Amino acid sequence: MSKMPYAEPWRVKMVEPLKMLSREERVAKIKAASFNLFNLVAEDVFIDLLTDSGTGAMSDHQWSALMMGDESYAGSKSFLAMKETITELMGFPYVLPTHQGRAAENVLFSATIKQGDIIPGNAHFDTTKGHIEFRKATAVDCTIEVPEAISKNHPFKGNIDIDKLEACIAQYGKEKIPMVIHTVTCNTGGGQPVSMQNLREVAAVCKKHGIPLVFDSARFAENAYFIKTREDGYQNKSIKEVVKEMFSYADGMTMSAKKDAIVNIGGFIALRDEKVYQACCTFGIIFEGFVTYGGMSGRDMAALAAGLRESTEYDYLHARISQVEYLGKLITDLGIPIVEPAGGHAIYVDAKAFFPQIPQTHYPAQVLGVALYEEAGVRGVEIGTVLADRDPISREERPPKLELLRLAIPRRVYTNNHMQIVAWGLQQIWEKRESYRGLKITWEAPIMRHFTALFERL
Ligand SMILES: *Cc1c(COP(=O)(O)O)cnc(C)c1O
Repeated sequence: MSKMPYAEPWRVKMVEPLKMLSREERVAKIKAASFNLFNLVAEDVFIDLLTDSGTGAMSDHQWSALMMGDESYAGSKSFLAMKETITELMGFPYVLPTHQGRAAENVLFSATIKQGDIIPGNAHFDTTKGHIEFRKATAVDCTIEVPEAISKNHPFKGNIDIDKLEACIAQYGKEKIPMVIHTVTCNTGGGQPVSMQNLREVAAVCKKHGIPLVFDSARFAENAYFIKTREDGYQNKSIKEVVKEMFSYADGMTMSAKKDAIVNIGGFIALRDEKVYQACCTFGIIFEGFVTYGGMSGRDMAALAAGLRESTEYDYLHARISQVEYLGKLITDLGIPIVEPAGGHAIYVDAKAFFPQIPQTHYPAQVLGVALYEEAGVRGVEIGTVLADRDPISREERPPKLELLRLAIPRRVYTNNHMQIVAWGLQQIWEKRESYRGLKITWEAPIMRHFTALFERL
């Protein structure tokens, strides 16, 4: 008997029309945008895979929760609903809302990180690293090294290497380490998950040294799905049980609700320790707002609470992650190289292997992104030399090891037919891949150049 195919556990109640421009129009639009996909008007994009952040589709439950939002400045019932949901799902008694994930980092780190501190973790997300370095502290990457030969089939590439973590603690001393940050799933590493065993082992090391463990939890539900489906002993547990166990190993969490809470804006900090919570409240009030809304409206908190319950349902996650896998398979079946295994929220096309004739300093992943827009109206994002930016001292280019085009899939937004268009677009480029040349930058900002850089074809 063949395996039952999957289908989304929802049907569509409202649609947002999309318009496909002609190929000639798209070629003109991307040229007018100086070959920077950030400069395109969203309306001119047919399938927008720029990010999965804040781009998900809310359910009827979430929309009706919006209407029930309580906009009281203090003690709103929408805050209480959000707090109770987080306490029930993750087990943390203290919850502080913030307007998005980086704001949660700003508030928590203001209360806990000082100059000279060391924060070990697994390839910290860029805003996380930014908030650490802004405080003149250092993020130390302790992600496991995966040998090339088994890389494609490794189930948990987001894991922290326990020996590296122990060595880091031995080198700097626990007094300099205010926390360890474990990112689930590891975004920087391509949405790669962390195993329950690793969470448990990292927690044991932290406990032994008296160092708090914080989860950067933007995609915690997707991580729980990978634990349930890939790790021994979890097949018969519900996602909510897996989530509960995951967070039982943490002292706190920061959350970008724009990802796995399936809302368009929002975030929070959740903690076990009352003293840390109180220290955070002071900064929360200055930066975000009173402790029961922190930069969010009551209705957004209500929708967030509903979203957390929905994203921790197995059927939702199965359809979500199967769609990402589906796109990955369409692309690899064409012989096009991607990062494997596919992560939870995006496919990363290997642009160096796609265009071996284009040196990294001519931005092959940017070339691929431009070409995919021209061929199919699809917008991805370059994760390569443009993003890596220049060395701040020497101002030289610093090409990263991987040169990737990220195709991030918004939650509950596109169908598998859309995924076929994406793969078809890549196929058009693949078939004439030798004909492509690089780009050069004609203008760039002194930092974070990728958002605004202007390009010309070579
Ligand atoms: C998106 C993200 C953040 C930052 O959250 P924002 O809501 O974009 O501010 C932090 N960490 C991880 C892992 C993320 O994916």
